[in-house]
This record gives sequence, C-alpha cells and structure tokens, in this order.
Amino acid sequence: MKIKAKKSLGQNFLVDKNIIKKIVDIAKITEKDHILEIGPGTGNLTEIILEKNPNKIHVIEKDNKLTEILKKKYENKIIVINEDILKFSEHLICNEKLIVFGNLPYNISTQILAKWIIKNHKIDWFKSLILMFQKEVADRIISQVNSKNYGRLSILSEWRLKIEKIIDISPSCFLPKPKVQSTLLKFTPKNDYFIFNNPKNLEKVTRIFFSQRRKKIKHSMKQLFNNYYDISSKLKIDLNLRPQNLSPSDYFLITKEYENLSP
Ligand code: SAH
Repeated sequence: MKIKAKKSLGQNFLVDKNIIKKIVDIAKITEKDHILEIGPGTGNLTEIILEKNPNKIHVIEKDNKLTEILKKKYENKIIVINEDILKFSEHLICNEKLIVFGNLPYNISTQILAKWIIKNHKIDWFKSLILMFQKEVADRIISQVNSKNYGRLSILSEWRLKIEKIIDISPSCFLPKPKVQSTLLKFTPKNDYFIFNNPKNLEKVTRIFFSQRRKKIKHSMKQLFNNYYDISSKLKIDLNLRPQNLSPSDYFLITKEYENLSP
C-alpha cells in the first residue's frame, strides 16, 4: 500500500534495512524485555524488533490511519496505542522497565526529551532510550561546557542521563529524505544525581542564563538573587564568565541556591 507521508507529523520513514538492524541490535533485546516504540509509522523498526521476540511491544502512534494499518498488520502481536506522546503517560504502561525506541518526529523531539527528563524525572520507568534526532539537536545534547553548542539541552540531559552517540545517519536512509542529517543517541538513567525540590527550577534557571547567551552571567545572577555577589563567591563562580563557561554542576548548585530562597 502506498502511504503519503505527512510533513506535519514529521514523517520520514526509515528504509535502510542495515541501519534499522543496527539500531535494534544496540538494545541487545532478550525475551524478557518490554519494548516501547514512539512513532512506529509503517512499522519498519517494529518489524525488526518483533524478530527479537521480546516479552511485549507497545507502540504509540498519533496518526489514525497508520494506527489502523499497524493494528491490521500485527494483529495481537503488538499493542498499538493511538495517542499523542506529548499527552500520554508512557511511564505507566507497565511495571517493567522499558527499552524505548523512537525515530522521533523532529519538530517535537526536544519536547519529548525534556518531558522525560523534567516531568517524569524519577526515571524509573525505562532501562534505555534509543532515539533518533536531527544531527544539529543531537550535537546540542552531547556538547560539553565551553563549546559553541553547549546549552540548556546539554545541561538538562547531563543532569539525569548517561548519553552515548551511536551513529550519524544520512538523509538517504529515509523516505521521504529529510533535509538534514540525523544522529542516533542512546541514553541510560544515572543512579547518582543532584536532587532538586522541583526539577522545573533547573529548567527555569538555565532558561534565564541562556536567553542572555552573550552577556556576562552577572546579569542573570542579579535577576535571580538580591545577594548575587555573596552567592557567586560562595559557589566560586566568576561573574564575568558567559553562560557557556559554567559547567552543569555550576548550574545545579545555582539552582539549589535558588530553591533555598523560597522555603
Ligand atoms: N519509526 C518509523 C516512523 C518515523 S517518522 C520509521 O522509522 O519508519 C515519525 C513517526 O512519529 C510518524 O509515524 C508520525 O506519525 C509519528 N508521530 C508524530 N507526532 C507524534 C506524536 N505527537 N505522538 C506519537 N507519534 C507521533
């Protein structure tokens, strides 16, 4: 059946069999594993995941028509959920820790990741995430302090996740071809991480700093704290630095100070 890809839903289907196999192999799926796939589309990845015989496969697909096709194609072999991932409580799908796959719609990929890091921050619902991003976004996620792409996405990810770059993938592996390069990343939860009263404060603090990317951090510190001078000397942070010069742990400490302001 010919399927017309919907641009609005970020539909770029993976068609390169070697790449698909490689992606699935990364997870080293066993028969005990529970799998969740975000945006299965026509089932290109799902098909190969099924070959590994996992315990159960849930897929979440927003497109009604593709949902119907998947239900017919796989009958009771997989559980097809016709929902929007941004509105769905995927962490309640089952009690087992999930392996999550997603050739994500590029227009919402950072929203999905931020949702998993900040909102469901206990992160006890997955074992690993194997996700495809537009290369430029992946570069932002993995970039280190003092580099050009370093920013909020790097800091938020670094807070809760171990990140591994797997491979860059060229547009010719997809149909229709996207205009951009893609990158596959693997994430696993960190057991040891900085505890906040509310992780949204880390989002807020980093937003304030990085919305003034070129300015000295003194401006952002002033905005957050009346006694910004004392706080910066306590944390040994030089107020003349720029936001990209502060390490993730500097941001964690600043956020903690911010949380201490309001009991
Ligand atoms: N995994 C497939 C398709 C990837 S394209 C493959 O690699 O071939 C991205 C898929 O995500 C599409 O099927 C699209 O319909 C679906 N999608 C887009 N927005 C979504 C959302 N908010 N929630 C769930 N699925 C979504």
